Amino acid sequence: MWSAARVACARRTFATNAIAVDGFTGAVGNTPLIYLKHLSEKTGSRIFGKAEFQNPGGSVKDRAALGVVRDAEDRGLLKSGGTVVEGTAGNTGIGLAHVCRARGYKCVIFMPNTQSQEKIDLLRMLGAEVHAVPAVAYENPANYNHLARDHAQGLSNAIWTNQFDNTANAYAHYISTGPEIWEQTQGAVDAFVCATGTGGTLAGTGKYLREKSNGKTQIWLADPPGSVLTSYINSGGKLTERSGSSITEGIGQGRITDNLATFINDVSGAFTVPDEKSIQMVYELLDTEGLYLGASSALNVVAAVELALKLGKGSNVVTVLCDGAYRYQSRLFSKQWLESKGLEGAIPQYLKKYIVL
Ligand code: PMP
Repeated sequence: MWSAARVACARRTFATNAIAVDGFTGAVGNTPLIYLKHLSEKTGSRIFGKAEFQNPGGSVKDRAALGVVRDAEDRGLLKSGGTVVEGTAGNTGIGLAHVCRARGYKCVIFMPNTQSQEKIDLLRMLGAEVHAVPAVAYENPANYNHLARDHAQGLSNAIWTNQFDNTANAYAHYISTGPEIWEQTQGAVDAFVCATGTGGTLAGTGKYLREKSNGKTQIWLADPPGSVLTSYINSGGKLTERSGSSITEGIGQGRITDNLATFINDVSGAFTVPDEKSIQMVYELLDTEGLYLGASSALNVVAAVELALKLGKGSNVVTVLCDGAYRYQSRLFSKQWLESKGLEGAIPQYLKKYIVL
């Protein structure tokens, strides 16, 4: 039953790592690129999702967390036994909490209290000190980012990693996510598209892919409702007031962060994806591809499909599968929550069987 030939054949269906990696931080990155079969066949193109939910802390933000900590260590800002303070929608905090535990730092997180309970609970289980604070605009001094900065200033041997404006974040993607995608597609990537929170993923990955392809790879930005980036890009640089909101977490922006600023002039185009499409895609990815993903991943896949249709049959489009639905399941799979957001009707009848909470 376990003949060598059969084992060799079966092994080919599993990803293998040739060598052991060094602890939590050694396991960050090198995620699979998943070919999304059903959506590709529907569009006549090839659509790929970078499986960032497979990072050891469960999201794309493990890369940024490791990047900002390494940078602070290299510059002598973060010393043994020090404290890392950050403002985050949750995933960077979770990545930082893991990295801090693994490297012997303390971790203090400020986040808006609108974020899912799962993320807050996980941060506390990872030993982080969590301050879930009222969600107010960036211009307000009580915004979670400013509170994180002020808190770090009041501590000794502490740093504020400042993921939004610290370009060590985008750099982490420039040296990891970008090269991985380039290798995994063997350079055949016509377009890359994703939503942005800090802009680190888009800017770092986009910059690498543009350089390697001599400007041939298009880099598109996808926005949730309530974000100003699409109108900024499509109006040639006019910044409007934020209005509206989205069920997606961790994406959408009201300003041009320093990470995004490093790349915004090279963005090929931008568009907004309504929540109805994102939530439907959460369920469709589960039903057709067997992938249990959060709403920002779903938004990214909707955007990849739209871009593939725009570019025409035969194109190769890559996007990011940011994290798993585990982090939001009390919301995304709850009938009551969907109804409260007016989104139950967006789920087609044949997918309603997945609404189990
Ligand atoms: N998706 C999720 C679930 C996130 O938490 C984040 C980051 N907050 C992003 C996407 C966006 O990534 P970036 O900050 O690199 O733009």
